[in-house]
Amino acid sequence: MKFIADAMLGRLARWLRLLGYDALYYPQIEHGLLLRIAREDNRILLTRDTHLVKVRGVQRHLLLSENNPFEQLKKVIAAFNLKDFSLMSRCAECNASLTVVPKENVKNFVPEYVYQTSDIFKQCEGCGKLYWKGTHPEKFKKKLSEVLLSP
Ligand SMILES: [Zn+2]
Repeated sequence: MKFIADAMLGRLARWLRLLGYDALYYPQIEHGLLLRIAREDNRILLTRDTHLVKVRGVQRHLLLSENNPFEQLKKVIAAFNLKDFSLMSRCAECNASLTVVPKENVKNFVPEYVYQTSDIFKQCEGCGKLYWKGTHPEKFKKKLSEVLLSP
């Protein structure tokens, strides 16, 4: 299942990526192009724009009315019954996949204590950003469990 978020839903797109879902997002994109990518790439449009959905007749979409990104995430999870979360598989910044890199390769690129205390490192195939377990702050995990556990 792949998504594309409208210009108002950048934080939601990041959360979906952190959960491992393919979620495109462009801060400035013209509506016509947004809809074309959704259609051609078979993506579900996540939007807060009633007008966009009604006037342009988008087929696969979810209209969100929530302001809070966590409430939005909850709604997306419920609407599509998402449960196959895969943390540390997709870059939150650019949506590309992460691949495991040998520990010795990252020695000069991560803080010393991270190098000493982490064994698994992943790198974004798109932008090169490095990820390790501590990259997801505790706050994210706590929020996530709230989102998933609350009705
Ligand atoms: Zn990236």
